[in-house]
Formats: sequence, C-alpha cells, structure tokens
Amino acid sequence: QAKTRGRSRYEFFNVELRRQMQRRLRLEQDLRDAVRLGKLWTAYQPVVDLRTNRMVAVEGLLRWTHPVHGAVPPMEFIPLAEESDLINQLGSHVLRVTTAELAARRARGLDVDLKINLSTRQLDDPGLIPEVERTLRTTGLPANALCLEITESALMRDSALASEALTALREIGVRLAIDDFGTGYSSLAQLQRLTLDTLKIDRSFVLELGESADAEAIVTSIIAMAHAVHLTVVAEGVENETQLDLLRDLGCDQAQGYYLGKPLPANELWG
Ligand code: C2E
Ligand code: MG
Ligand code: MG
Ligand code: MG
Repeated sequence: QAKTRGRSRYEFFNVELRRQMQRRLRLEQDLRDAVRLGKLWTAYQPVVDLRTNRMVAVEGLLRWTHPVHGAVPPMEFIPLAEESDLINQLGSHVLRVTTAELAARRARGLDVDLKINLSTRQLDDPGLIPEVERTLRTTGLPANALCLEITESALMRDSALASEALTALREIGVRLAIDDFGTGYSSLAQLQRLTLDTLKIDRSFVLELGESADAEAIVTSIIAMAHAVHLTVVAEGVENETQLDLLRDLGCDQAQGYYLGKPLPANELWG
C-alpha cells in the first residue's frame, strides 16, 4: 500500500512537471508567433506629480492577449522571453511602438514623458544604444522625455557591458530609473555611482503604508536616501487615499497605482 502510494506521488510530480514544461514550451512558441504577427500591445499607466496632481508621465507596460489563455501576465511571459533572444525583439517592439505613440501625442500638445522597462539582456546587447538613438531620431521624441526603468536586481549585477550601456544612454540624454527599489541590496554608494534620475519604491512597501509603522519607516528612509543623492522618488502600487496622503506627507515626488489610474490602451487613456 505504502509502496504504491509513494510511487503514485512520484508519478504525480512527474506528470505535473511534464505538464508545466509543455505549457512553457507551447507558450514560448505562441509568444514567438505573437511577436511575428503583431499580437502584442502596450498599456499605459499614469504617473502623477504629488505637488501638482498632474499626470507627468506614463509607463508603457507590455500586454499579450493569448488566443486561448486570454491575458498572460508579464510576470509569466517576460521571464520566458528573457531565456532566449525573444526579449530583445519584445524590447525593440515596445521601444518602437511607445516612442511613436508618445511623440504623436506630444505633437498634439500633450506634455507627458514616457517610461519603459528594460531587461538585463537588452542592456547587454550592443545593438541597444544605436537602436535608441535611431528611434529618438525617427520619432522626434526628445531624449529627456524618455526614461528607461531597470530593476534594482538587474542594476546590481555588476556587468561591464551593462554599465557601459548605462553610461552611453546617459550621454544620449535618456533618463534612467531604478525600478522595484527595496527588493535588492544596493548601497547608497552604488546609487550615487550609477547616476540615475529616478528611484521607484517597490509596491510591497507602499502596500503596507497606513497599516504598518515599519513600512512607513522604510518608505521614509528610502525617500531620504534617494533625495540625498538627488533622485526623483516615485511610489508604485498606490491603491488608496490613505497611502497617497501619507506618501505626499513623507515628501514623495510622484506616484503610480490603481487608485490614480490603471494601465489602459492609449485610446482609452487619451481618447
Ligand atoms: P513594473 O515595471 O514594476 O511595473 C509595475 C507593475 O505594477 C505593472 O504590472 C502594473 O500593472 C502593476 N501595478 C501598477 N499599479 C498597481 C496597483 O495599484 N496595484 C497592483 N497590484 N499592481 C499595480 P504588470 O503590467 O503586470 O507588469 C509586471 C512587470 O513586468 C513590470 O513591473 C515589469 O518588470 C515587467 N514588464 C512589463 N512590461 C515590460 C516590458 O515591456 N519590458 C520588460 N523588460 N519588462 C516589462
Ligand atoms: Mg517599471
Ligand atoms: Mg516597478
Ligand atoms: Mg514592481
């Protein structure tokens, strides 16, 4: 009895594992098709200045509506794409589409900057710098209206290629942000050396604002630290008024979150 139970448990894991691997493989193939057929789209989420309450920027977030599974979250398909060259194609797509969209809106008088996410593989790709330069030239989007977000863990990898790319991007005049701050292990010295423009406080700290004194203390010190090295601070994941009021009181510069606006297709955000 025990023996068969043990064996069936083993088979269960085996079957489960195989099912997961098959789903990954199929998703990867579907993602390749989606890229090729232009089935990916970008949602835009407002970033609001806490002094003026004005939308000062939007973050472009990649969306994939799968023909069978429906919306596949970026948390699932971005890591999948990062395991291959696919991420560079996705990155190029997002860069091309969002800069063109924003340049067109700005030409019609909308004064809003663009933020997009970069993965480490894009930073390590020597083609990135000429691509960014070319894109800015063809769309006419000013370099300082484009902010590239890189997660804290990606920035702390200490890759020579990546730091060369960051320097080159700064020389072009593009802005740089450290994303999901607080989830990695960067020091004040590293923050200063990286010469970034913006620091985004990870959603996990904002989530507990108003409920946990620890979270408030952490957010307070992140803001102080960021301001000490002249970074603009953005809080992500603001979901209610309590969090928003606290962030404003704590001197946070900008905020983003469902309470201020969910990520939406361009035509729903601006009409
Ligand atoms: P991120 O760059 O930190 O983007 C913020 C994420 O938080 C987005 O998730 C956004 O929809 C979500 N969010 C915003 N406000 C709230 C809120 O109030 N509550 C909650 N619960 N969530 C909120 P999303 O769109 O699912 O993207 C997840 C991550 O996938 C992004 O995190 C980013 O790391 C990555 N990603 C998305 N698009 C791209 C892309 O084009 N390229 C790369 N390399 N990564 C991307
Ligand atoms: Mg981001
Ligand atoms: Mg973020
Ligand atoms: Mg995040």
